[in-house]
Amino acid sequence: MPIVRVALDVPLSTLFDYSVPEGIAVEIGLRVIVPFGRRQMVGVVMECVTATDVAPERVKPVNQVLRDCAPLSAQLLNLLRFCSDYYRYPIGQTVLSALPTRLRSDKPIVSKPILNYRLSKNGAALDLESFPKRKVVQRRILARLAGQPCSLVQLKSLSPTAGIQLKALLHEGYVEHCEEPLPSAEHVFDNAHTLTGEQQQAVNAVTAAQGFACFLLHGITGSGKTEVYVHLMHDVLRRGGQVLLLVPEINLTPQLENYFRSRFPDVNLISLHSGLSEGERLHNWQQAQLGAAQIVLGTRLSVFAELPGLALIIVDEEHDSSFKQQDGLRYSARDVAVFRANQCGISIMLGSATPSLESYYNAQSGRYRMLKLTGRALAEARLPAVRSINITQTVMHHGISENLLHEIGQRIARKEQSLLFINRRGYAPVLMCTGCGWLSGCKHCAGKMVLHLKDQRLRCHHCGYQIRVPRACPDCGSADLIPVGSGTQRVESVLQERFPDARILRVDRDSTRNKRAWQTMREQIHANEVDILVGTQMLAKGHDFPALTLVGVLNPDSALYSSDFRAPEKLFAQLVQVAGRAGRADKPGEVIIQTAFPDHPLFRALQTHDFEGWAVSQLAERQMAGFPPFVYQAMLRAEGKEESEVYAYLNQARTAGIALRQEVEIFGVVPAALPRRANHLRAQLLIQAASRKSLQQFLRAWQPSLDSLEAKKLRCSLDIDPLEF
Ligand SMILES: [Zn+2]
Ligand SMILES: [Zn+2]
Repeated sequence: MPIVRVALDVPLSTLFDYSVPEGIAVEIGLRVIVPFGRRQMVGVVMECVTATDVAPERVKPVNQVLRDCAPLSAQLLNLLRFCSDYYRYPIGQTVLSALPTRLRSDKPIVSKPILNYRLSKNGAALDLESFPKRKVVQRRILARLAGQPCSLVQLKSLSPTAGIQLKALLHEGYVEHCEEPLPSAEHVFDNAHTLTGEQQQAVNAVTAAQGFACFLLHGITGSGKTEVYVHLMHDVLRRGGQVLLLVPEINLTPQLENYFRSRFPDVNLISLHSGLSEGERLHNWQQAQLGAAQIVLGTRLSVFAELPGLALIIVDEEHDSSFKQQDGLRYSARDVAVFRANQCGISIMLGSATPSLESYYNAQSGRYRMLKLTGRALAEARLPAVRSINITQTVMHHGISENLLHEIGQRIARKEQSLLFINRRGYAPVLMCTGCGWLSGCKHCAGKMVLHLKDQRLRCHHCGYQIRVPRACPDCGSADLIPVGSGTQRVESVLQERFPDARILRVDRDSTRNKRAWQTMREQIHANEVDILVGTQMLAKGHDFPALTLVGVLNPDSALYSSDFRAPEKLFAQLVQVAGRAGRADKPGEVIIQTAFPDHPLFRALQTHDFEGWAVSQLAERQMAGFPPFVYQAMLRAEGKEESEVYAYLNQARTAGIALRQEVEIFGVVPAALPRRANHLRAQLLIQAASRKSLQQFLRAWQPSLDSLEAKKLRCSLDIDPLEF
């Protein structure tokens, strides 16, 4: 009796056996509908076998085989098997979570055929000379189709209004659909940019590589990493391959999409990210699966796209922590991408101005190949001058120094823009009672509630709980409540007071909640309708503001002495990024850092633009302290309403782990950095090993004990290579 072993979206680390009724053909990778308990579920066939260990009367038959989509490839299934094993996450949940939502439902999908366009009989008979001259775009479309049939993408590259004009031509009967595939043509490449010597070397190194090779492209801000990507893509497209480009931020994808479209007007480029509608995501996923999409631009989830012709992977801003998923399958898309490139025997490029110390170490030790861009692509553009202001020795106005205000005033006079970078939204972090010292704590969390002045509310940024700002202290009744510390809103009001005529724009999660808002703000900034920008890290990433010449960094010090050993690395990357916003065009930029520790090595390294010196000293510190990348870590987390249950679970897991007597270090159970969130107590257990292999060996041996522990009322997770502590 033929048996299929099916991956189902259930939290069990196993496949499920079903019999295949006679006359039904099934193959690996197809989706099937099977009975599970009282439900019908969609699963993916992982194996076809002839026998099962399950008692024959308990083996149920497959209900339906879905053939509305081609089977998943063996390559993708292998990748998902690897992820399930490496990240210790149930195989069924791993496989199903990698698919677009529509493929996880039991409703059959209707995919639209990919249509191309050609001239109809009438259209071919038309004399273009007699066609109305004012219909410019229609004339362009007709002229183009006179040569050969074209895809929608190709026609859209003729004009932004090509879509509408094409509809008109279809309606008038000059143009018609055709389903035949297009003859493959040499793609158009806008090669307007001449590469610098360093860029050319980087391109040559990658194109000359055979088989799997991982390159780390370390390029200072403004050095033109994107131009290197474009040339590498061009090389792959010429050979008929597919490119996967991973980017960290969903906010950045529309901009990048437009940019790459403009460089490759003929190429079918699609994006994959969680901001797409279910239908769009399915459509794009299928385009990738068919090989019709030549460039796939996406956030972390796109690392699981089907790409039969995959020939190159690029991970931009590879150091960015948003490549790591923080729930469910806790994978790092960057690390999975490296594995995938290895599996396919192709090149992968990791690009960054501030590589993660893990990648930098891999390049130093020869596992990755280092490529450097040390000069700015535009020779006249200089790196910004960076200086520190000691906040303990200067006049401060609610968190902004007099010197910085003076510089901002000069920029306003010169019609240039300033940016104040602060990592805290809201008006002020906390409200304090001067009578008794009461602080506005959240009643559900261990954190404090943040004061939002505009709508007079205290909000918890951890659990979302909010209340109206109290008139008097809830403890002692004193009405003397004052805000402590600075958030974006408070900085905004200090600036407004000092510069009443200045146009100030606050960019943070509160002001950009609306989808269009951020786009509108960017347009305002570009049109120089803004004098001062106040923003959080949203502003630091990948935006070019040509009139911006001053960046002020307000409160970076807490990261210097944080309990998270990665905090200084993150701060350095963030400050390099935000500093890179200053002086990108012909105007020199200046960065002013307000700190109580102006001599700290991190700020010294920023002043001299010495990432390498900084990275080497950080790596030496990590090695001494025994932190990654010199050790490999896994974190078991638990949270629940009862403290005793949380600790009992973690301590039992710890005892079981120690009993295995393996070559790993098992730390004690400790409270999480935020020990209480939304009324749940949170604690964690860290495991550390000298090699990836011994960590993996231990985790595999430990799994059965974890599965057998009673944890019904708890939320538990195992995080491999955790980034958050
Ligand atoms: Zn009080
Ligand atoms: Zn809270």
